[in-house]
Amino acid sequence: MDSLVRSAAHPIPLPVVPQRRSRQGVVAWGSRRVTVGGDAPVRVQSMTNTDTADAVATAIQVKELALAGSELVRITVNNDEAAKAVPYIREQLDRMGIDVPLIGDFHYNGHRLLTDHPACAETLSKYRINPGNVGRGDKGDRQFAQMVDIAARHDKAVRIGVNWGSLDQDLLARLMDENAARGAPWDARQVMYEALITSAVESARRAESLGLRGENIVLSCKVSAVQDLIALYQALASRCDYALHLGLTEAGMGTKGAVASTAALSVLLQQGIGDTIRVSLTPQPGEARTQEVVVALEILQALGLRAFVPSVTACPGCGRTTSTTFQELAKQIDDYLRASMPVWRSRYPGVEGLKVAVMGCIVNGPGESKHADIGISLPGTGEAPAAPVFIDGQKAMTLRGADIARDFQGIVENYIEQRFGTGR
Ligand code: SF4
Repeated sequence: MDSLVRSAAHPIPLPVVPQRRSRQGVVAWGSRRVTVGGDAPVRVQSMTNTDTADAVATAIQVKELALAGSELVRITVNNDEAAKAVPYIREQLDRMGIDVPLIGDFHYNGHRLLTDHPACAETLSKYRINPGNVGRGDKGDRQFAQMVDIAARHDKAVRIGVNWGSLDQDLLARLMDENAARGAPWDARQVMYEALITSAVESARRAESLGLRGENIVLSCKVSAVQDLIALYQALASRCDYALHLGLTEAGMGTKGAVASTAALSVLLQQGIGDTIRVSLTPQPGEARTQEVVVALEILQALGLRAFVPSVTACPGCGRTTSTTFQELAKQIDDYLRASMPVWRSRYPGVEGLKVAVMGCIVNGPGESKHADIGISLPGTGEAPAAPVFIDGQKAMTLRGADIARDFQGIVENYIEQRFGTGR
């Protein structure tokens, strides 16, 4: 009988970082140049939900998003008051030392706002244009050209952002007519995919013919279902080399939104598709807007594409540990590392790659702790009240008593100072 376990003829291949295949562009603000596309890291983007006309509230939220790790922040520019506020928002941010580039989100009246408010046009680093919302027919063509012309004159980046909730209706009607004439008509969803991609790519080609550099163009085709998004972006990536912005639109609230976004974005990122990402979470009552940034960072870090904060490996706990000590310690250490990152990012270069383990008992505790840079194995139920600490794979000490959490935090601080500090 054939053995179920066969010896391997070849080693299992190690994971490879996906190769990117888009053009590279630059989104600039002042001295800050954020590269997007090509070999640049996948960038994290977010969007405010304040009234942009309230320059102070918007600047404060942009600052929060930037400090949480957002590298590009989009703001709504929907009326004259919002357009007038844009330079003041930039001014406030500069005063606070926040140099994150701002993206203006335009629908319906972007051509007029960018023309009537040159300071807004100049201040923004990037414009988002939705081809489905620039107007219809010749008028729409003229208004699209007007926005592209302003972007080209200021050498701004443009995201041509198509959304299935606001798809170009003339284009959709044309493609549906073409489909009806086919001998074997496509599924309605396939026609919708085609309309989204055609709208994005045709608009981008037209923008290039109007003078916008291809490197300054980012495309997106957002839908709200995971499998649709994957199918669409795979097709989009195969048909053009523009940088792509990924996001599951209207992902939803809490766990559902985070999981759906993670599922969709992970598949695409693993295939080398996607240059900027946004997680479109609906904040739960009382939840910070920055949660969408936290999820985006976690996706990139979990895939090994980027490192933003030291990672804490913690076991889930089980019947071998009946106290909540290790859960509390894991949370305390995680919170402490995250809260320290805004300062540590410049003080301790490389600290974001640190791996910390907080484990609940002897079963996997010492082993997992040895794999981390620094780890602690807490005593499980019935074990001696002692917690061995492992540093760089070696047992370094054993902590005892009521202050294990505080002592371990002190050990982590010393380790970081010695390994990543200037005196190392
Ligand atoms: S390390 Fe121990 S406490 Fe944690 S899950 Fe494994 S057996 Fe349970």
